[in-house]
Amino acid sequence: MKVEQDLERKFNDQCAVFGVYGHPEAANLTYLGLYSLQHRGQESSGIVTSDGSSHFIEVGMGLVQDIFNQEKLSHLHGDLAIGHNRYSTTGESLLKNAQPLAVDYSLGSLAIAHNGNLVNAVELRNRLEADGSIFRSTMDTEVIIHLIARAESKNFVSRVVEALLQVRGAYSLLLLTEQEMVAVRDPHGFRPLAMGNLDGAHVFASETCAFDLIGAKYVRDVEPGEMVVASPQGIKSYFPFQKKNRAQCVFEFIYFARPDSTVFGQPVYSIRKRMGMELAKEHPVDADLVIAVPDSGVPAALGYAEESRIKFDMGMIRNHYVGRTFIEPSQQIRHFGVKIKLNPVRGLIEGKRVVVVDDSIVRGTTCRKIIEMIRLAGAKEVHMRISSPPTTSPCYYGIDTPTKGELIASSKSVEEIRKYLGCETLAYLSRDRMLDIFGKNRDDFCTACFTGNYPVLMPGMDMLQPNLFETVT
Ligand code: AMP
Repeated sequence: MKVEQDLERKFNDQCAVFGVYGHPEAANLTYLGLYSLQHRGQESSGIVTSDGSSHFIEVGMGLVQDIFNQEKLSHLHGDLAIGHNRYSTTGESLLKNAQPLAVDYSLGSLAIAHNGNLVNAVELRNRLEADGSIFRSTMDTEVIIHLIARAESKNFVSRVVEALLQVRGAYSLLLLTEQEMVAVRDPHGFRPLAMGNLDGAHVFASETCAFDLIGAKYVRDVEPGEMVVASPQGIKSYFPFQKKNRAQCVFEFIYFARPDSTVFGQPVYSIRKRMGMELAKEHPVDADLVIAVPDSGVPAALGYAEESRIKFDMGMIRNHYVGRTFIEPSQQIRHFGVKIKLNPVRGLIEGKRVVVVDDSIVRGTTCRKIIEMIRLAGAKEVHMRISSPPTTSPCYYGIDTPTKGELIASSKSVEEIRKYLGCETLAYLSRDRMLDIFGKNRDDFCTACFTGNYPVLMPGMDMLQPNLFETVT
């Protein structure tokens, strides 16, 4: 059935955006911003600048440091810049899908950088193509460009509103014309977008770690449903959309964002550590040592250790220089893919009852190999602790998750997963405990990957999952 195939499709729009309005070193600063947001996307990267009358563009495949150099940056003229990192996927990895997308249309030059995923992009694209639009990429983001180009308003900002009123799903966007920059977050606020200031210039970033690198000051978040317009007339804020319930992605805190960032106004590191502390309260165990699966599991493991008063140590070491591909010897090495990244420290683990903390289990394949490696390093017992609830449902709003069938917790109980992983005990942080950490803001988050309750439905989803509803308040 077509609808089911669409729902099972892998979505690949986990990305970073960065923008500078009104700084003579806009391109260099954007390069640095993208550099610090590399964890949000490694497939491709790009910068578009404006000198007030023309756009300058540089996009490429690969890492920020490999794409840009002094010479390329010197061609990116002007005080205005937006940049983008795109996430690496198993799907199409093509230059035509690199962002920012830059076009010329009836009002002039336009560039767009998008983090998120539009759930009705296929519908809209079919309609636009039937009306004669020609698409040059396979990205949902291009739909927005066509909707802006076809909008009726004379004024650019009104055109953006007209376009965005037609799209549904997740978007944190930066748009650039010759003289204006628009920063906008969808009404649910799925993905983050922060605003800052550097020597009087306005800066925008997916995460505040980008501000830290360039010495900018974090001012506030672009609010869900807010559109911030920076132009020669100054900076203005609009709320042009119907208000919706907040549905900020809780997975940003669990895994995705850098721990030194502030997202959705909250410091990631301390939230992640609290998740580990709550996990220790909810699922204590008698053990000798707490170790983390580095790097993402470290803050939660420290929280677990602090709360349980069990010693933490770096029982597993990550190789930070692992590239995309590695040449495996012809005589295959068992668990080579995981081993090349992670290796247990035998001297710490041998003879111990070990608590291993990781942030999440997706397919369970990595986790299983890690547990086996820890056993081979001499652990007496292995107790797996996960600082988030079981991931049962794919994300349609911009986190790269596999299809439902591949998510181990979609079909197996915790006990079945434990048996598959081969550990003495396995426990996850409950959704309630996790949300308790956010206090009065506990209802501001999307937890669809743990519940299957999607705040914005995919087309056809109501037929497949009649218990779900769209939040339109
Ligand atoms: P596995 O045991 O194969 O399910 O892999 C679990 C590991 O994947 C954990 O260490 C997570 O930190 C990591 N992880 C979680 N979500 C993602 C994601 N969206 N993309 C890449 N890795 C992830």
